[in-house]
Amino acid sequence: MRHTLHFRSLLSGLLLSALCSASFIVESAAQDRPCAIAIHGGADSNPSSDPEVLARKKAVLTEALHAGHQILTTGGSSLDAVVAAIRVMEDSPLFNAGKGAVLTNEGTAELDSSIMDGQTLNAGAVASVKHVKNPIALARLVLEKSPHVLLIGDGAEAFGKEQKVEMVENEYFITEKQRAAWKAIRDRKMKDGEKSKQVNRDQLVKQFPNANFGTVGAVALDQDGNLAAGTSTGGLMYKAWGRVGDSPIIGAGTYADNETCAVSATGTGEYFIRGAIAYDITAMMRYKGSSVIEAANSRIYEKLTHMGGTGGVIAMDRAGVIVMPHNTKAMNYGWIDPAGQIEVGQYPAKK
Ligand code: ASP
Repeated sequence: MRHTLHFRSLLSGLLLSALCSASFIVESAAQDRPCAIAIHGGADSNPSSDPEVLARKKAVLTEALHAGHQILTTGGSSLDAVVAAIRVMEDSPLFNAGKGAVLTNEGTAELDSSIMDGQTLNAGAVASVKHVKNPIALARLVLEKSPHVLLIGDGAEAFGKEQKVEMVENEYFITEKQRAAWKAIRDRKMKDGEKSKQVNRDQLVKQFPNANFGTVGAVALDQDGNLAAGTSTGGLMYKAWGRVGDSPIIGAGTYADNETCAVSATGTGEYFIRGAIAYDITAMMRYKGSSVIEAANSRIYEKLTHMGGTGGVIAMDRAGVIVMPHNTKAMNYGWIDPAGQIEVGQYPAKK
């Protein structure tokens, strides 16, 4: 078994010099029937340094990892593991997914999620759902029980009711913290005469340091050698007009292919959609023969960064090699590698 930890400071180009860029890589040699899982709790441009917040997030990430890993070690599928891990994070108010999601300009929660099976290339996704307690579970049902890939809004919820998924009031998702962050933005917009409904993720970070990020995602490799990826989010704080980001878009925020890797993204969704970032990582591996490390680093530090986007991905190949490049200040992460080693935290870690 071999573990390699690389810290990358890509300060070589002027363009990148303002960014704190980093990637965290674990390589583990394949064992007999290895399994592995990696998760993220969002690329964070404004990470909290409060030890209590960090400890609480770490506890949830650890629980999510174990929920997924237990399924993998008992012979379950990577799809089941991804759903189990993401459900834990959706149920936690600490992340921007499920309970605790960011709010639209109207003060409601609208949730997006997707999942993909690397063996069959089947995928399921939902966007702008307002009453589905666990959007990742509904995305999984779209994958398995419908002939479609992406269902949105009321239609997605009607399908969810047919499938008997748990429905909740929209209020369930709304935490005091998100309500306060929303109010601060609304008050500022009112003061400015609300010239525009639009928000920009990067401006939000500067103007509203408490605006919350924390999209969640998971990638997994099961003992049958199948990869899966999933992502779940409330999207962008104060989003308007039914805005949908990359998280429910297959190829942008989520992709999985047994022949290459599984990817879940987080960051400014518009860039991930325009750059087809998740698919592009797999395409580099397939057509150029790149390793998962080269491909993911290249698409985040070169393509996304040069496009002006911020964010990151977690990616895992069929040997369980995990890479987590991001050009934001931090990314909440966790993994259990093929050797069973667990690692959880906020990267870069505080000294
Ligand atoms: N990618 C998500 C979106 O654009 C947001 C995020 O990851 O913070 O909807």
